[in-house]
Amino acid sequence: MLEIKNLTAKIADEDTQILNGLNLTVETGKVVAIMGPNGSGKSTLSYVLAGRADYEVTEGEAWLDGVNLLELEPEDRAAAGLFLAFQYPIEIPGVGQMTFLKAAINSQRKKNGLDEISTPEFIKLVNAKAKELGISSDMLKRSVNVGFSGGEKKRNEILQMSLLAPKLAILDETDSGLDIDALKIVADGVNRMRAPDRSFVVITHYQRLLDYIKPDVVHVLSKGRIIKSGGPELALELEANGYADMVEQAA
Ligand code: ADP
Ligand code: MG
Ligand code: MG
Repeated sequence: MLEIKNLTAKIADEDTQILNGLNLTVETGKVVAIMGPNGSGKSTLSYVLAGRADYEVTEGEAWLDGVNLLELEPEDRAAAGLFLAFQYPIEIPGVGQMTFLKAAINSQRKKNGLDEISTPEFIKLVNAKAKELGISSDMLKRSVNVGFSGGEKKRNEILQMSLLAPKLAILDETDSGLDIDALKIVADGVNRMRAPDRSFVVITHYQRLLDYIKPDVVHVLSKGRIIKSGGPELALELEANGYADMVEQAA
């Protein structure tokens, strides 16, 4: 599904290298957790995969189902089945949620050679998913994320994700700032979407989220590369002992 080889990236216009030859394979149908201390490059990895212009890939490859992501424009990466939920979801004043969601769905359908979704079909779909996620019809009437609480923004991202039905979803610290109820709603939303043809990369600093979204594999990122890989027990080990020893051993 996702195959990252020797990915090396820096901040555009600067020399500071942030990803240092990162290798990562995510198999189809699996949930992979990436943990790591602050500043290890977790968000940079998601930004680079999303194609954000302020990062420059200097070496390496990233393939999604045989498609070379790094050669595609950001919107084509999304159409190829990549979805990213960011740590800080953006607000879009003046753009209504329904308009935004419909445009996102139709952009993806168009790029994949499909007809636009009909309005009744769209409304039925959004209402059903919103209900599952505890998103009120009032929230659906507002501008994208404007005035939403942290938890509401995160739930909204899960709504976007479930409507776009990606092949690979990357969730960057979706748990940050969530209370336990919101965390469970987000985790339930992800768990409902788990499928044999869909993979997830769950990026998190803390083990807590992984109590609710059970990963198949856990990788630890430090200084822009994977320093250790294991099963769910690795997350528990980190929770008990912290990152310092592991980082030191790797160095
Ligand atoms: P994490 O998500 O693991 O906390 P980040 O990917 O956000 O780590 O950051 C990795 C390192 O790169 C940090 O030292 C951070 O300060 C630096 N960094 C990331 N993006 C930028 C940027 N746009 N400009 C300057 N420094 C950056
Ligand atoms: Mg951080
Ligand atoms: Mg981060």
